[in-house]
Amino acid sequence: MKIVSVEALHLRLPNIEEIADGTQDVLIIRIHTDAGITGIGEVSSQSYVCKAIFEAPRSAERRHGLANLLVGRDPLDVDGLWHYMYHQTNRYGRRGAAIHAISGADIALWDLRGKALGKPVYELLGGAHRTSVRAYASYLFGNTPEETGALAREAVDLGLTAMKFGWGPFGKNLSTDIAHVEAARRAAGEGRGVMVDAGCSLTVASALERARLMAPLGIAWLEEPLSQDDLKGYAELCGQSPVPIAAGEGEATRWGFEDLIERGLHVIQPDVAICGGLTVARQASEMARAAGRRAVPHCFSTGVNLAASLHWMASCADGDLVEYCLRPSPLMRKLVRNLPPLESGRVPVPQAPGLGIELDEDVIAEFRV
Ligand code: MG
Repeated sequence: MKIVSVEALHLRLPNIEEIADGTQDVLIIRIHTDAGITGIGEVSSQSYVCKAIFEAPRSAERRHGLANLLVGRDPLDVDGLWHYMYHQTNRYGRRGAAIHAISGADIALWDLRGKALGKPVYELLGGAHRTSVRAYASYLFGNTPEETGALAREAVDLGLTAMKFGWGPFGKNLSTDIAHVEAARRAAGEGRGVMVDAGCSLTVASALERARLMAPLGIAWLEEPLSQDDLKGYAELCGQSPVPIAAGEGEATRWGFEDLIERGLHVIQPDVAICGGLTVARQASEMARAAGRRAVPHCFSTGVNLAASLHWMASCADGDLVEYCLRPSPLMRKLVRNLPPLESGRVPVPQAPGLGIELDEDVIAEFRV
């Protein structure tokens, strides 16, 4: 079997709001073969830039566009193709947009391999530890602690057993921050997980201050308190924080996660459509497990990302948690026709070969740039 063409489909809502919402614009990758089998992947990044990374012509060595690299190759050698793409883009790549683009190709290759072998992707990744994955939903903090409490009650009503609050007013005032977290904790009730995402708004000292006040509230993790590049700060914070520290939604490649784990991160959060695909996500969760840490997918874009994250978590012995996006965007709700639903706080892992998803061609036609 050989790859005959690679499509990079840019889908975009007519109006993009400048908020932290990755469901407004996405790059869908389709890899076609001479056997008539097509693999589907997704890139969650700057779609215009990543589309260009696919479509760029061949250049000097290690400066190629991805589609040109893939055409003519055997799609079943997923690992070999990851290293080939990484190596042949690394004059301009190694991290950032080039790895984001490789993520989409890698997810599509895993989907294709599963379809060719007649197996769901989780089996190819190492087998099934579960048939559904516990979900958590992410909310922006409300404008007031009362509003935050109301959001937590909404999550409870949806059947969720875990929820995360972040960004918005958080990080500006210690007592207001804690009032918000207390309101969320109270409304979430006993036995439900509550996480806090600081959106890179703190310093080591201000993060520690908050972590010490949040620890008695049983907060499951404090996410991205510091800049994504302040690795020295994370090392300092992780050694002292009484609340587990989470980060890594912007991290890429196995070397990036190896570094985060060495710095002491308690929870790493690879996004399969950013980090280098399922190939990297699996390497990251294996390293985390070996070091006694957790890996929990960051997942806030479309049903393609969700399905890939579910297969990844199904294959992890200790991977029973996935971020579930509740945004109303049709790119999240409708692009995948058989979007894995939220059922009693869990999400079923698709069982058909590959990722087990089908794209809605009408949605593609409506939102294609
Ligand atoms: Mg986050």
